[in-house]
Formats: sequence, C-alpha cells, structure tokens
Amino acid sequence: MSEAFDERMKLIRFRRKRERFIFREEIKVVPRWVVWTCVVLWLLAVALGTLINLSGVNGQTFPPDLAGHPVFASLALGGIITLISAITAIWLMALGYVYRDAQRRGMNAGLWLLLCMLLSWPFFAIGFILYFQVREPLPFPCPRCSTMVGARFNFCPNCKCNLHPSCPNCKREVAESDKFCPNCAQELGKPAEMPGFSQPGLGASLE
Ligand SMILES: [Zn+2]
Ligand SMILES: [Zn+2]
Repeated sequence: MSEAFDERMKLIRFRRKRERFIFREEIKVVPRWVVWTCVVLWLLAVALGTLINLSGVNGQTFPPDLAGHPVFASLALGGIITLISAITAIWLMALGYVYRDAQRRGMNAGLWLLLCMLLSWPFFAIGFILYFQVREPLPFPCPRCSTMVGARFNFCPNCKCNLHPSCPNCKREVAESDKFCPNCAQELGKPAEMPGFSQPGLGASLE
C-alpha cells in the first residue's frame, strides 16, 4: 500500500516536471463538435427566447419592467440567456476535455466522464479537481531515440535508454541532461560514457 503510494507520488512529481499546462494548447483537446454544439444551442436559445418574448405568448414580456421597450427587453433577455449558456458551455467543454484527455492518457475515459458529470451536481467541480490530481502522465518521446514511451516505463523498449535516471550517490531522480546531481552535486557524466546496464547494482539507478 505504502509502496504503491510512493510510486504514485513519484509519477505525479515526474509528470509535473515534464508537462506544462498551456491553456492555448489544452483547449484544443476539447472536441470541436462540443464547441460548435454550444454555439448553435446558444444562438437557438437567444433566437427562440427573443421570439417568444416579443410574440407575447405568455401575455407578458420579460423582464416585465421593459414591456414597452421591445429592444431593451430583447437585449436583457439575450444577456441572461447568454450568461446561463456560458456557464453551461464551460461545463460541457470541461467534460469534453476530461473525456479526450483521459483517452490520450490511456485512462478509463467513460468512467471519468461519468464521475465528473455526477459529482458536478452536488459538489460542483470536485470531479474535475479529483481528475487533475490523479490523471496519468502523458506518453513522451524517449530522450535518446524519440520513440513514444509510457510514463510508467523504466526503460525505453526500443533503445534501452534509462527513462528514470537517478544519482548513484543519493539515489534521487535526475534529468537525462544533468551533469551534476542537483541534490548532492555528485558528478553524473555523459550517458555515452557510462558503463551501461551490465552492472546489476548500478543498472537500475544510472545508465
Ligand atoms: Zn529509446
Ligand atoms: Zn545525488
């Protein structure tokens, strides 16, 4: 249990180091059709609302104070509809993001969609917060051969590159490009000069 937790925390640290959240890029994950559906529904709602409002089906214009001013009444109603639509659209697009993002991370997308949807009602955004805390890291290109590797891999399946190199002295994880350990200043050397994986003791910690 504690080992699994350690593994989890290690992955999360690893992910934070590697993944940058750029809103402009992340928004592209939201499926296009969700965005277009939101726009179309908003236009329909404004058009329909204005039509019903001005035709006087209910015998009254909304807002009632503006009964004698059809233009202002339409604008006021349009504004209210737009506000409600914007909140709904953000929710729908967030759900679209979670679904597609879970898919590309190899997680159970349907389950997370359902969880975020169900938890939205009583607990607002808790499903989304939970998702961002526990989501799997994205696959990334191997630093040596650029083959896409899963974040749980220890070694590249194509070139045997150590994907989680660690300092031989303090055993903390280091980046492939580090010349010295950022924790204890141990000289790490270039990957090409390292003895390789033949030494059983060192093999797992440093290439
Ligand atoms: Zn590789
Ligand atoms: Zn060290």
